[in-house]
Amino acid sequence: MLTCKLCRKTFDGIPSDAVPVSQRRQGGYQLFQFKNGELHDLHEVRAPVLTQQQLIERGQRGAHSRYHTNKGSKREGCKYCFPGTAQAEEKKL
Ligand SMILES: [Zn+2]
Ligand SMILES: [Zn+2]
Repeated sequence: MLTCKLCRKTFDGIPSDAVPVSQRRQGGYQLFQFKNGELHDLHEVRAPVLTQQQLIERGQRGAHSRYHTNKGSKREGCKYCFPGTAQAEEKKL
């Protein structure tokens, strides 16, 4: 993924018809002229990575829909089956 320093837009990649106007500069920025005439000062950024907590949540939710919802059985201790309980537990901590 690329972002533009000038307009803060993000791009999936540099279009093949965009023309580099400058050399690549410090910080990885390089000015490109797009076919529509716009200038964008682009540099590569990493797509946002999920945090450890988000990964855990995603796993739990996946297990819930796979093993609980699909089988129609609520599982004790699953905060997605029993959203109220999980909230109560969080308050205790
Ligand atoms: Zn731009
Ligand atoms: Zn569940």
